Amino acid sequence: MTKIKINSARTKAGSTPQLSILIIGGGASGMAAAISARKGAESRGIKAGACKITIVERNPGFGAKIRISGGGKCNVTHEGSPEEFLLKGFMRLNEQRFLRNAIYGFSGGDLLDLLLSKGVTTEIRPDGKIFPDSGEASSVANAFERMLSDAAVEEISSCRVLGVERVDNRFLVTLPGATLMADAVILATGGVSYRKTGTTGDGLAIARKLGHTIIEPSAALTPLHTTHPLSSSLSGLALRSCSLVAEGKGKRVGRRGDLLFTHRGFSGPAALSLSRDIGELLKESGRISLFVDLFPEQSPAELDRLLLMQGRKNGAQMVRKFLQGCPIAPPEEGFSTSPHGTIPTALVPMILRHAALESEVTWSTLQKEKRVALLGVLKKFPLGTVRELSLDAGEVSAGGVCLGEVNPKTMQSRVVPNLYISGELLDYAGEIGGFNLQAAFSTGWLAGMHAAKSLALPERPGTP
Ligand SMILES: Cc1cc2nc3c(=O)[nH]c(=O)nc-3n(C[C@H](O)[C@H](O)[C@H](O)COP(=O)(O)OP(=O)(O)OC[C@H]3O[C@@H](n4cnc5c(N)ncnc54)[C@H](O)[C@@H]3O)c2cc1C
Repeated sequence: MTKIKINSARTKAGSTPQLSILIIGGGASGMAAAISARKGAESRGIKAGACKITIVERNPGFGAKIRISGGGKCNVTHEGSPEEFLLKGFMRLNEQRFLRNAIYGFSGGDLLDLLLSKGVTTEIRPDGKIFPDSGEASSVANAFERMLSDAAVEEISSCRVLGVERVDNRFLVTLPGATLMADAVILATGGVSYRKTGTTGDGLAIARKLGHTIIEPSAALTPLHTTHPLSSSLSGLALRSCSLVAEGKGKRVGRRGDLLFTHRGFSGPAALSLSRDIGELLKESGRISLFVDLFPEQSPAELDRLLLMQGRKNGAQMVRKFLQGCPIAPPEEGFSTSPHGTIPTALVPMILRHAALESEVTWSTLQKEKRVALLGVLKKFPLGTVRELSLDAGEVSAGGVCLGEVNPKTMQSRVVPNLYISGELLDYAGEIGGFNLQAAFSTGWLAGMHAAKSLALPERPGTP
């Protein structure tokens, strides 16, 4: 059994804390909550010794997910104003609305300033993603750990919280072999993907028991595994700026972006982003057909006109040769070069096969019905069938504590006073690009700040 490690805060000897705030989960959200709780207490003139802030983490160390994020480089946030951030990072209006206060209250700029205060400089990539200059995710996690220590936060690691109960307007928090009392609890236990990082859904059970509604977790930002992968020889190919479409039971969802072929199916921004919608569609239909539109800028009629023009100008050209250099998603009329790259050569024989074209056919020998078949395949190239998604393999999970039951201005539960809920445990899921970490930091920051600012100072002495 792992030994519980307690890193006692530097509180004044002999002082009795008047307030105690306990944070469950030492990830991005929990650490931000602990640091801002201290700032909130200080802003009320409450000294460190009078406000005990404790963070409990089941792993031996803090920030396990931060350390593996962004392929070990940590895409910590995304550039842009809070409004742009919300629009780009969150597909659903209710999520954008819910997160607005948190993102305005603790923006990407605030996060970068905080990191800079600990010597972590960052760079903005051309696509808007922001990473630490060090190229090391650990620099971000370590900076937060230093901030915990500066904020005199009591850190308890290797300790799994087993339960939380409301007793006499306070909280009784059960640990293995011990209990703690707290005036406020911040639940920041994360989602349920990548369970090996400690996120096994404990917070969901705790929140449910305290009276919260839980939206059943589902996969998000997860690779798509098809039942019969197209061909292992395609693994590693990328289709730039295509449109990925999923269909099931008469419903259709799609996403524009880059698509990566893997040995088990598909990954890349379009696949990862669409996975959440696919997960929901799967609940209704049990199987999903995937397609890619290689010409998302053109309607079928426009594409047909372009194919006809190409045939008239280059009658002797083999259709196969044309496809091999054909830009994906050409932005203008005509097959001018496109910034998005071309149809990969390895895909061309499959396109011909699906359209039932011989490999040597030229434009001048291409009959109308064959051209129409080609058009159909270019607009809707079949990629196979998805029957299930891996919840665990996702960068995040969707679902969690119902947003309507949490006050978005404070992150305080509307069900249990002085209970705060933050981070991925809540029912939101952001896109790839630094949106999820920022949302975890921002909601945690808001929760910590309000927990410390709004707690009434009791007469009694009380220690957690
Ligand atoms: C492989 C991978 C790569 C990612 N890359 C990025 C990226 O580059 N950019 C980005 O924005 N997002 C990324 N994400 C998503 C991002 O890491 C998460 O959304 C974010 O860390 C969520 O923060 P959180 O604090 O809410 O939860 P977590 O970081 O998951 O923290 C929750 C913590 O609570 C602890 N805990 C759980 N139950 C208990 C309990 N009973 N008692 C005590 N402690 C408990 C867990 O051990 C965990 O440490 C990535 C995720 C993964 C898996």
